[in-house]
Amino acid sequence: MNPELPGGVTLADVWQARRRIRAQADNTPLRYSPYLSQRYDAKVWLKLENLQPTGAFKLRGASNMIAALLEQYGPQRLQAGVITASTGNHGRAVAWAARELGIPATVCLSSLVPANKVAAIEALGAEVCRCGDSQDEAFETVDERVTSRGQVAIPPFDHPLIIAGQGTLALEILEARPQLDMVFAGLSGGGLLGGIGLVMKQLSPRTEVVGVSLSDGAAMWHSLQAGKPVSVPETPSLADSLGGGIGLDNRHTLALVCATMDSHYQVPETAIARAMVTLLEQEKMLLEGAAAVGLAAIEHHRIPIAGKEVALVLSGNNVALETFDRARQEQAQDADL
Ligand SMILES: *Cc1c(COP(=O)(O)O)cnc(C)c1O
Repeated sequence: MNPELPGGVTLADVWQARRRIRAQADNTPLRYSPYLSQRYDAKVWLKLENLQPTGAFKLRGASNMIAALLEQYGPQRLQAGVITASTGNHGRAVAWAARELGIPATVCLSSLVPANKVAAIEALGAEVCRCGDSQDEAFETVDERVTSRGQVAIPPFDHPLIIAGQGTLALEILEARPQLDMVFAGLSGGGLLGGIGLVMKQLSPRTEVVGVSLSDGAAMWHSLQAGKPVSVPETPSLADSLGGGIGLDNRHTLALVCATMDSHYQVPETAIARAMVTLLEQEKMLLEGAAAVGLAAIEHHRIPIAGKEVALVLSGNNVALETFDRARQEQAQDADL
């Protein structure tokens, strides 16, 4: 046990989350990849979070937080419903979990969020509120409504219950592969990486925790360098789920990621495109860019994984076909050079 870890989350919180979310989020398969294992002379395992009912791991954190609020306050306090701002997958997860638990949900989305993700959230019965041109403006709308309407905010990453929920996937990985050498996960706000890091540092300190961010617009990268939360301009990416800031008032994930992440890489769009195409071609899995960044990092930075047992978190599958076409074109142009 390591009581020194910052972030306000304990291993006990992750175990509790696991019990709470059992009815709503799946224990997804950890599938061996013969192709990638051979290609890198390693044992490569794929954690298939793309198979969650909402298509991404975010269902873990959202389910944990909403279920915990219900336990703590009862349905009366949650009558006005829950509200969130999200680049897509978190909003979808909140909508799904709220519906499952019988609570109304509102999702505030900036104009950057692609139409397919908006439609998916509306289809889940949530009220969608289009507000502003950035994630930050969407967050402001959430704050307004919390005050004016008494709705309860479900933050996308910076909350102990969210981090604990995401951490449950690391428990599952370790149960299946206790000798794991490395785990790769996409890193944006840090709920996912923080949850994984928290579990690994305490249950399997030998496992190297690797975070992968975008080359451009990676707020976490610059915040770690600055030693405090900073905001950077958002840029469109094939991995749109990795866009957005970490919140200038970040309280949990920055410190936790800083304390538990062993290596950090950035990946350019061409590498993400190539990894997306490889995963479709070889694994027959259609994934969003954010889910492909682990493989993109291994390829782009030639990370030595030979002889190692490695898990890649395939974090989600919410990709529009036009976006995938863009990835294919980018990959084809890159291959021509
Ligand atoms: C949210 C998300 C991430 C990054 O998770 P953070 O907790 O924000 O770091 C990675 N992949 C997918 C598919 C996501 O939806």
